[in-house]
Amino acid sequence: MREATQKPSVTVIGLGPMGRAMAGTYLDSGHPVTVWNRTTSRADDLVARGATLAAGPAEALSASEFVVLSLTDLDAMYAVLGSAIDALPGRMLINLSSDTPDKARAAATWAGGHGARYLTGGVTTSPDGIGDRDSVTFYSGPKSVFEAGREVLEVLTSTDYRGEDPGLAALYYQLQMGVFWTTSLAFLHSLAVADAHGIKAAEVVPYLSTTARSMPDFFGFYSPRIDAGEHPGDVDRLAMGVASVDHVARTSKDAGVDASLIETVLAIFERGVKAGHAESSFTSLIEGLRRPVA
Ligand code: NDP
Repeated sequence: MREATQKPSVTVIGLGPMGRAMAGTYLDSGHPVTVWNRTTSRADDLVARGATLAAGPAEALSASEFVVLSLTDLDAMYAVLGSAIDALPGRMLINLSSDTPDKARAAATWAGGHGARYLTGGVTTSPDGIGDRDSVTFYSGPKSVFEAGREVLEVLTSTDYRGEDPGLAALYYQLQMGVFWTTSLAFLHSLAVADAHGIKAAEVVPYLSTTARSMPDFFGFYSPRIDAGEHPGDVDRLAMGVASVDHVARTSKDAGVDASLIETVLAIFERGVKAGHAESSFTSLIEGLRRPVA
């Protein structure tokens, strides 16, 4: 029986950049840490800092009540834990591996069926944000499990509990990532166009950042209209948007840059015009996104 002052031991399975940051943070905060990774050498630094390397997934599960999974995806979870199901009863599995909401729900059912208490997590920071209270992780699953694990979870980041449905944390995470990746590619596209004109990233980034900083106001203005299903063309018109996107696409092509990203945007805008929304706001495009025509 552990002493009242001793922190609970934590197992971290999966030692990519994220899992290593998590295991290191638990070590720094005084938790006994057991680790396991398919490629054993990734544990070397952590073992040197005091972590215990388990011989296999079953031993890793057995070492702690709290087990953090930081794997590439949920297929990796089945690959790792499939041979260790006898060690699952009584564990609190905190799955911080990214995947779809549907796969998160199936994983929760699988783990619960094998006697584990299970939480889905979606980490919204990079590894260097682990251990920082300003970073946030979405969680979902049984509220009682979340509350029982909360203190251990909050060693890593702040928590944002989204609800009982185990798919919700994955959903909220993927919603963020949808904005992150499309915006990141748009960023690279603009830099490629600038570069074709001999302008370095450092010169344009302040201007691109100004546009990025305006987005929360933009989201805030349009979201009540979207929730109400109203798309008045009082502030913008889709027809104007088509012309603007077309200018971006032609600027890319004139510069000899891959225009496929912006041409995809243009095709979606043109579909909205074809559907009769030329005089509506560009937000009317959400109707086509909700019900895509095959
Ligand atoms: P990586 O993909 O770099 O590493 C994850 C780990 O998964 C590795 O240790 C790898 O083992 C293991 N793994 C993958 N497939 C298998 C398999 N079939 N069997 C056994 N082990 C396997 O991911 P990260 O560490 O970067 O991230 C972990 C999770 O966190 C991912 O789901 C990611 O999407 C998410 N995330 C990551 C962020 C980041 O900035 N890195 C930010 C937010 C979320 P091995 O070392 O042997 O290859």
